[in-house]
Amino acid sequence: MSEHFDVIVVGSGAGGGVIASELALSGRKVLLLEAGRHLTSQDFKRWEVKANHDLYWPMRFAPLPGGDVVAFLSGKAVGGSTTINTKVALRAHERDIAKWHAASALTNEDGQPFSLADLEPFYDRVEKVLTVRERSDWEKSVHTAQAGFRALGTDIEPVMSYTDAKCMSYGSCLQGCPTDGGKSTMNTYIARALAEGGLVLRSGVQVQRVIVEDDGRGARATGVEYQAADGSRHPAYARFVVAAAGALNTSLLLLRSGLKGPAVGRHVGLHPLRLVYGLFDDIQDSHRVYPISAHCMQHQVDEDGGFVLETSTIMDPVAFGTTIRDERGPLWGLPLIEALRAYRRWVGVLAMVNDENHGSVGFGPDGQEQIAVDFQPSEHARLDAALDFSRRVLQAAGAKQVCWTGIISTHTQGGCRMGDDPQRSVVDRNGRSHEVQNLYVGDGSLLPRTLSVNPSLTIMALATRMAMHLEEALAQAPAAG
Ligand SMILES: Cc1cc2nc3c(=O)[nH]c(=O)nc-3n(C[C@H](O)[C@H](O)[C@H](O)COP(=O)(O)OP(=O)(O)OC[C@H]3O[C@@H](n4cnc5c(N)ncnc54)[C@H](O)[C@@H]3O)c2cc1C
Ligand code: SF4
Repeated sequence: MSEHFDVIVVGSGAGGGVIASELALSGRKVLLLEAGRHLTSQDFKRWEVKANHDLYWPMRFAPLPGGDVVAFLSGKAVGGSTTINTKVALRAHERDIAKWHAASALTNEDGQPFSLADLEPFYDRVEKVLTVRERSDWEKSVHTAQAGFRALGTDIEPVMSYTDAKCMSYGSCLQGCPTDGGKSTMNTYIARALAEGGLVLRSGVQVQRVIVEDDGRGARATGVEYQAADGSRHPAYARFVVAAAGALNTSLLLLRSGLKGPAVGRHVGLHPLRLVYGLFDDIQDSHRVYPISAHCMQHQVDEDGGFVLETSTIMDPVAFGTTIRDERGPLWGLPLIEALRAYRRWVGVLAMVNDENHGSVGFGPDGQEQIAVDFQPSEHARLDAALDFSRRVLQAAGAKQVCWTGIISTHTQGGCRMGDDPQRSVVDRNGRSHEVQNLYVGDGSLLPRTLSVNPSLTIMALATRMAMHLEEALAQAPAAG
């Protein structure tokens, strides 16, 4: 017997977790389908390699000219990447949002260019649910880095973060928070909707395609087909389908479902970052702090450099040892052994760069996934400037050696962006597909241009906005049979 819901949401991360829960808590019958497992704080241990297996998608790579690669990281769990992220909770800069109208002609309900003001009530709501607060409880490693920023005539300030007073500042955010002090959609929105609302959650199931039918009135999404852990395939039907599988996976899902719009899988933004590490004489224990409690915003807008630095994060030992490099390339042999022996003496700066959304994701002629990046000279200049400034900060703070990682994308955005122009966007201002009726996109794929700050708060604000729109649409649409 086929199942019918008001809404099916694919993916339970920053976007999908919020949309599914908001609608379920307002009384709608919602099916939330998630490829990852439903693990909770009791399951989270700081066993780095096992957490990589249990809580992440296998790492994806995009080639760069010269043989280097960009590595893409994202969570695969109930809560999506919010289950394994560092919980920094920043509103976008108004200049970030101003780029959206230029990119895809995105307007608000009044026909005006979409602006930060259009998101503010939704930011307010998300910040309340996630108990966002300032993290000025800095540990030694942050003060070590601060000396370098100050020596260069600038400074750092506390970040806002979705962590409450239960946070023990022990730094295992990337393996899941064992205290629930770190908030995710799993331990906030979804937990509440499971307890109080009509949310049906199925984890460990992978959606293969959106079911698109055409009865002569145009293409219409009627449900999804998903694969259970035992390999069996199941249909489920709904009045609306929301694809919220994360920036790369949503584009791939739409392509697998036959969408052909010119912007599907295009305009992907990486928000490329590097970790830059300085080695100090005394113990810093950067791995035993809340990973990102401070940032330097002096270069945030493009005209000022186009990058943001966060500190004092350091990767756990396996990732640290397998990614650390310097001018000569990856550390190997004795230099690597010495770097690892000194693990407790490194302090990290995370350098995130404004990019221009020249990435793409899709399927190659062999049917395999392909991610392409095409950094322009202006983006290379920003990446170089961010690395150079981070090195100088650490040297000015007294670091005896500076190393760094290759380019990583943990904040991948775009691929199915919002806009008024169907040639340059995939969905409208409410996330509704230009191509297939009753199909929505509800995650980081929506962002027309990459933000200059960590994106999850903005994705959740957009998701809250979309949930309200869907609630209105459900009130008007005929109920499922
Ligand atoms: C290590 C790391 C640290 C980060 N730190 C921060 C931070 O401090 N602050 C911040 O703002 N942002 C941070 N981010 C980024 C932030 O977490 C993401 O931008 C945000 O979670 C993206 O939301 P989303 O809904 O687009 O995707 P996700 O949150 O990634 O959720 C997508 C979900 O869809 C599921 N899915 C995918 N395909 C399918 C399918 N076919 N069927 C069913 N389910 C599927 C995935 O398993 C996943 O659970 C970090 C990210 C990483 C990886
Ligand atoms: S540092 Fe805080 S938020 Fe991160 S895992 Fe530890 S307790 Fe959780």
